[in-house]
Amino acid sequence: MATTSCDVAIVGAGLGGCFLALLLGRRGRHVVVIEQGPSVPSAGADFLKPPGLRVLARHGLADLVERHGLRRDTIRYYHDGDPIQECRFPDGGFLIRPYRELVELIYTSCAMEGVEFWFDAGIADIAVGEGAVEELVLGDGRRLRAGAVIGADGTKSAVRQALGIEQMTMPYERLLMRVATVPLSASVAQLNRLYFSSEGWLTYLYPINRDQARVFVGLPPEDDKEIFQDGIPALLDELKKFVTDSSDAFNFLQPATWQRIKVSALRVAAYHKGNAALLGSAAFACHPMTGMGMSYTLHDAEILADVICAAGDDPELLDRLLHARYEPRRHAHRQLIDYGDALASTFRDREAYLAAFRPDLHVHGTAAVPEQVSEQVPEEPPALQRA
Ligand SMILES: Cc1cc2nc3c(=O)[nH]c(=O)nc-3n(C[C@H](O)[C@H](O)[C@H](O)COP(=O)(O)OP(=O)(O)OC[C@H]3O[C@@H](n4cnc5c(N)ncnc54)[C@H](O)[C@@H]3O)c2cc1C
Repeated sequence: MATTSCDVAIVGAGLGGCFLALLLGRRGRHVVVIEQGPSVPSAGADFLKPPGLRVLARHGLADLVERHGLRRDTIRYYHDGDPIQECRFPDGGFLIRPYRELVELIYTSCAMEGVEFWFDAGIADIAVGEGAVEELVLGDGRRLRAGAVIGADGTKSAVRQALGIEQMTMPYERLLMRVATVPLSASVAQLNRLYFSSEGWLTYLYPINRDQARVFVGLPPEDDKEIFQDGIPALLDELKKFVTDSSDAFNFLQPATWQRIKVSALRVAAYHKGNAALLGSAAFACHPMTGMGMSYTLHDAEILADVICAAGDDPELLDRLLHARYEPRRHAHRQLIDYGDALASTFRDREAYLAAFRPDLHVHGTAAVPEQVSEQVPEEPPALQRA
């Protein structure tokens, strides 16, 4: 079968892959996005925090994503039924928009920039030689050669594996998560409420549009069988112990379909090798309680787009710029992962949770406005171990 050549091959059409494709397409790069699924992914995040909104605004996308999204500016936190604090988001707050809708908007914008998407395109082989990715071979025999290759292919990244980059996955074993989509009730329409209990449970309720709400329940794994496999009524008995201001949502919980979600943190030993780099969940994952994964991924895509365009067709310059400008992102990611760990490990204990809570990271993160592409040499990456 024929071999296709392009400037940049991106594996994965999630938020990271689509946004990077858009930025590069706008700058005249020939981009091919390879996605194993039949369309952009459907499961993922709902909250876009201020740093991510600012990234989209810098690229003229703010109006587009906000058009059918919901703006919120407050999250109220409870512990064993008592309100303990509110986190306020200044300057317009954050946006709620289901992941698939958000990614689809960016994907649709890519069409105008000539980005090619190959759906249902699983990777059969990634040929790596001389420290660079030479060719991608698809399951159907198609071959793709690219000046730069981006692994935006999620936590189990095939690109990362082909590059031999070590990874460390840290499942949050003490907190099993379930999620359901239910009709919107008045209390959920009024305010986002996140409840914790000293018995290791959490419940988060928020609207996703004018008619529906999302409900996350986190619970110790030993309680999951009793509650979700042997009968939902026990769920309401448990929730009534610590969910105090959202009882109008209870009637919707029993008939709901509860999906189980695996939540893990992920760190990797390097973010690039030669002409290839990792983006989004292929490079890092933090606890969703931070609500920041997408914001950091969008900012990372900006940096990658700058680096790839600055390097032009020079593979050595690309390698150097990725080292100097992209590898240092691990510091911000590490801070976010550590913060997610701190929230997940303290929420049972009211005082410890309040002490761990960082409004600055919660609201603004550490994502800064991108600097000019330079060739400063970063510090050596820290050892791949948990802080
Ligand atoms: C439960 C949960 C809740 C979250 N909530 C929030 C939140 O509220 N706010 C926030 O900012 N962040 C949140 N996050 C984090 C956020 O979802 C991620 O940061 C973001 O989705 C990363 O995007 P991505 O493009 O890397 O990955 P993904 O969306 O995972 O995309 C990866 C894509 O690669 C494709 N793929 C995988 N392997 C291959 C292959 N071999 N060949 C071709 N394609 C492949 C997949 O099919 C998929 O389409 C949450 C995460 C979780 C788990």
